[in-house]
Amino acid sequence: MTQSKPKRGLQTRIVRAEDKLTPGFESFAVPVARASTVVFPDLATMRELDWRNDAQWRYGLHATPTSLTLAQRLAALEGGNQALLQPSGLSAISNVYFGLVKAGDDVLIPDNVYSPNRDHGEWLAKDFGITARFYDPMIGAGIADLIQPNTRLIWLEAPGSVTMEVPDVQAITAAARARNVITAIDNTWSAGLTFRPFEHGVDISVQALTKYQSGGGDVLMGATITVDPELHLKLKAARMRMGVGVSSDDCSLILRSLPSMKVRFEQHDRSALALAQWLKTRPEIATVLHPALPDCPGHEFYKRDFTGAGGLFSVVFDARYSPAQVDTFCEALELFSIGWSWGGAHSLVMPYDMASMRSDTQWANRGTLVRFYIGLEEETDLQADLEHSLSTLAA
Ligand SMILES: *Cc1c(COP(=O)(O)O)cnc(C)c1O
Repeated sequence: MTQSKPKRGLQTRIVRAEDKLTPGFESFAVPVARASTVVFPDLATMRELDWRNDAQWRYGLHATPTSLTLAQRLAALEGGNQALLQPSGLSAISNVYFGLVKAGDDVLIPDNVYSPNRDHGEWLAKDFGITARFYDPMIGAGIADLIQPNTRLIWLEAPGSVTMEVPDVQAITAAARARNVITAIDNTWSAGLTFRPFEHGVDISVQALTKYQSGGGDVLMGATITVDPELHLKLKAARMRMGVGVSSDDCSLILRSLPSMKVRFEQHDRSALALAQWLKTRPEIATVLHPALPDCPGHEFYKRDFTGAGGLFSVVFDARYSPAQVDTFCEALELFSIGWSWGGAHSLVMPYDMASMRSDTQWANRGTLVRFYIGLEEETDLQADLEHSLSTLAA
């Protein structure tokens, strides 16, 4: 006979409600496991915990069943063995620095990198005794000449944010491997769907899950994906020390969007390529910087290494248009909103002042650069909107 439990007070019963999930209930949705405290059945279980084991629950900051499910799906998607979730794409980038680089080390960063990554490198160089050097993204095998005995990390981005140069990834990673330098790629543009970094010798793939993985423009998250478990542990140790984690609620939003990501990406890709090709025919546009089009630097590496492009590309306006005229063009668009980030259903537009964004290489195109993100609106409506806005430039 089981001992009857003492009748507890109302407040205790509210706190200690013993809900049990309906046995046999199953759905496609991954349950949202919220936790700060993780409860252990006994002290021996608690004492045997090993932080290196991703599938042990220790504290809500580090992992929950929801976040681990997302991490495992992301790792599988890119062909990695493990993934570490971060509260933003940028924090995934900064965690790579904190996990791998120490005072006295040297880091190589492509000159066209996502600009907060550039800023991070410059900050470490200014205040933390690291050297951060910027290299021409089209350097290829020539990167070997830049590698010093203290070079620890080489960043890549394919293609580069905003200006879209596609680097020769395998030439850079081969040079890095020959000298035991770790490589990390910001692989957000391809979402891990159309470029497979680990097949090209990269050690760490960084994703801003904020983009296509979220797909809604309403969640911030990032990830580092690795093949080598030791590298994963270095990054994991850094993340623990930084005291950051992700919420299971946010993870569940991304888990909800992930199954539709490839289909969305392919639709973005079709519309964006069609609109890029149409923009190429327009006299107002000097250059279209879309990796799938021959004008884009590194197009040959896109053709060799990528299977698709998604929704993000840039154009350079003819130099006869002033930056103020290009601003007017951007603001006259009705179906393209002005805003940072991308990856959701809504088309976006953003003009860039390139002069302030380069240090190692010169920006050759003199006209104003505008980056487009092509959303899921009808392509014909987007083209009509672009055409109407371009007509405001006529002068
Ligand atoms: C958006 C973006 C990031 C940063 O992601 P957040 O989640 O916004 O911090 C990093 N790299 C690239 C290429 C991006 O487009």
